[in-house]
Amino acid sequence: MSGPWIIVSGHATPDAPNALEEGVLARCRDRGWNCLSIPHLYHMGESSDIWSTLAKRLENAVLLCWLHPRPAQWLLRRHQIAADGLTILNLSNFADADSVVSAIIDMAQDGRQPRPEAGRPAGASEPAPGTIEPLRESTHPRWYPIIDASRCVHCGHCFQFCLFGVYELDGQDIVAVRNPDQCKPGCPACSRICPQSAIMFPLHRNDPAIAGAPGQFVVLDAAARKMFYSRTRQPCPLCGQTAGSRPSAALSAGGLCAECGRPRPLKSPAAGAAPTVVPVPFDDLDDLIDRLDQQTQRRP
Ligand code: SF4
Ligand code: SF4
Repeated sequence: MSGPWIIVSGHATPDAPNALEEGVLARCRDRGWNCLSIPHLYHMGESSDIWSTLAKRLENAVLLCWLHPRPAQWLLRRHQIAADGLTILNLSNFADADSVVSAIIDMAQDGRQPRPEAGRPAGASEPAPGTIEPLRESTHPRWYPIIDASRCVHCGHCFQFCLFGVYELDGQDIVAVRNPDQCKPGCPACSRICPQSAIMFPLHRNDPAIAGAPGQFVVLDAAARKMFYSRTRQPCPLCGQTAGSRPSAALSAGGLCAECGRPRPLKSPAAGAAPTVVPVPFDDLDDLIDRLDQQTQRRP
């Protein structure tokens, strides 16, 4: 086997090292394992040289990072790094360095990773120390969406919804995050309108589903879906309403449409028939969105 086994993606800056990371690196080295210490994966630049180094060294590695495994995996794939079979541990789940090392050893005994003892010379009772190779570069805090391509159905809603050009379509109408740094820090709006819960913001603190926690799905947000239909002017495929139309007070007693978040007509229109709605001026939210869209389009 070549290359390090343990890759630690840091959380802290070099000026403020994290005790857990340092403890893990020291214990792994003492066990004879080779380690690579890199900056926080999510904050590394798009053209960082570290991505190509990782591409060569991930085979048989354990990646320790401050992200859930799913966004970490799709982040690597975004940089054309095959992450199949890679074991990813979220350091946030561990209280101390010893429990991280125990988890790695348990996986080795389960056969899920190369045996740690392989780093020792034959017959040696104590392992020869491993190495710690730091790969440093200056990073700055970033915020952008990561798409879980196994969930994405290429509906294009995120591309149509985002006002800031973060998403683009390729020649086959496949959505991709092309301008990540145009995303607005702290905004997870498109993750709340994605019908497939395919969009993750791994540093989102309040909603584990948006952060990409294992097995979780983002609950669609009715207000955000309404914003989507207002912004794109698409007719809602479920209730048939369009921006600029709203059911009368009597009709709107049918509750909110689960798809577009608008007041739902009491009776669904017959297949192919126009919905029973009366045109009225946009409501306050529609009006605000419309003005925001116009402002954005005026930008150079
Ligand atoms: S909204 Fe979700 S499912 Fe649709 S293209 Fe975007 S990421 Fe894919
Ligand atoms: S969070 Fe907002 S700004 Fe960022 S990609 Fe989604 S819609 Fe665009």
